[in-house]
Amino acid sequence: MTGGDMAKPLLGHRSMEGDPSITPAAGRTIGVLGSGDFARSLAIRLVCSGFKVVVGSRNPKRKASLFPSAAEVTFQAEAVKKTDVIFVAVFREHYSTLCDLADVLVGKILVDVSNNTEINHHKESNAEYLASLFPACTVVKGFNVVSAWTLQSGARDGNKQVLICSNNQEAKRTVAEIAQVMGFTPVDMGCMRSACEIENIPLRLLPAWKIPTFLALGLFLCFFTYNLIRQVIHPYIREQKNKLYKIPIEVVNTTLPCVAYVMLSLVYLPGVLAACSQLYYGTKYRRFPDWLDQWLQHRKQIGLLSFFCAALHAVYSLCLPMRRSHRYQLIEMAVKQAVEKKMNIWVEEEVWRMEIYISVGIIALGLLSLLAITSLPSIANSLNWREFSFIQSTLGFIALVISTLHTLTYGWSRAFDENQYKFYLPPTYTLTLLVPCTVILAKVIFSLPCIQQRLLRIRRGWEKGRYVKFVLPSATGEYSSGETSSNV
Ligand code: NAP
Repeated sequence: MTGGDMAKPLLGHRSMEGDPSITPAAGRTIGVLGSGDFARSLAIRLVCSGFKVVVGSRNPKRKASLFPSAAEVTFQAEAVKKTDVIFVAVFREHYSTLCDLADVLVGKILVDVSNNTEINHHKESNAEYLASLFPACTVVKGFNVVSAWTLQSGARDGNKQVLICSNNQEAKRTVAEIAQVMGFTPVDMGCMRSACEIENIPLRLLPAWKIPTFLALGLFLCFFTYNLIRQVIHPYIREQKNKLYKIPIEVVNTTLPCVAYVMLSLVYLPGVLAACSQLYYGTKYRRFPDWLDQWLQHRKQIGLLSFFCAALHAVYSLCLPMRRSHRYQLIEMAVKQAVEKKMNIWVEEEVWRMEIYISVGIIALGLLSLLAITSLPSIANSLNWREFSFIQSTLGFIALVISTLHTLTYGWSRAFDENQYKFYLPPTYTLTLLVPCTVILAKVIFSLPCIQQRLLRIRRGWEKGRYVKFVLPSATGEYSSGETSSNV
């Protein structure tokens, strides 16, 4: 995972926080239409932030007790008359019932906070619909990504960003100013056409996790089937032994590390492919294919899923001795040894293999935990680019190397034992080594000075076969210009 990826702000739009044109607005009167959950939380936060609040309800008498005493609760028309900025905390389907207020709303700013129940539910966004109903008003879309709970608990406990868009710069600035006083970070999302995108944001279900999750599930299914054939189906067909009991723990526990290990290597493989492409074309300005772009963007999630599988593997492994089947096998082994009168069963090589295997496994898991923790936005934001890239890139690669050692010490000489080839299928760990070893080998090749230098030059803008203009200072201090081939 590269620093660039993770250090990126949540949304690639301009944050309006610290904008000198935004001036304090506390003390101003803000209107809220509606008296539901959102309206109530909004009124509480506005009052706490120093604003005067006037709530417009169809039934003010009944609703007044739900609001803080500092907020005035009155009829909709009365509320609208007292302020220039009105939050419309009403569902889209009820917007038309507000049309009676059209005359008193002329020239006012309406803040559309509404959300939909489905992505792209309507042809036009709710904000555009509101604007079409009230052409004499200025509509600003905003605050819909903030929940009533976040409003109540204060900006520090929830998402701090408030996405704002409008066709009117002045109105957008006014709403941004209010958001800032309330402790939120206003983010300018541009003109009203962005409203649809803003309304879709709260409805998206982990969009960045879809591909990595399918990838992890796909790998899990493949390795699970492979292990099932080797550990359960093979003994049943060859020796009529029922090993079905192995499925819930043993088969799962041999599958999880395979997924974790391969996923970890898939975090670093796209970087290797990108470097190969840059070396081949001799430029960094050529676009990567879409699939590689997508892959590069999902490295954080792939890494976190790798950590998740590795953590599960650790827990499963710790629980192995708790199983009844394990206890039976231990007793069976002890009885067998007693019958065969074997006194010393200590195998030095096996002891060392196991000690090293567990130790490197623990180190690999420790490093993966560090990578997972530093990919959390709050931690990532506290690191500078170098620290972040050292942890995610260098330590991440070391984690891959240590995981490879863990896999090799697990396999030891089993790859050369023909009894391990069930149905001629090689042991699972030999398959998992394929991608990680390719990545490690490629990284070693890229670290050779001749290749590293070329890659560095390309990443600093050098291009194969391109003539570049240069400007050199002369002995007299004047500058002379010329052209040279950057290939030289
Ligand atoms: P709610 O609890 O159902 O409140 C809606 C309010 O709309 C009612 O209390 C009602 O107040 C008012 N209203 C005005 N005309 C109406 C009509 N003809 N029929 C029914 N009600 C009418 O909903 P909410 O959760 O506060 O949500 C309000 C808006 O905020 C929605 O657009 C929603 O998408 C948006 N939003 C909510 C959240 C959240 O966490 N709840 C988060 C983001 C955005 P009166 O009876 O006093 O007129």
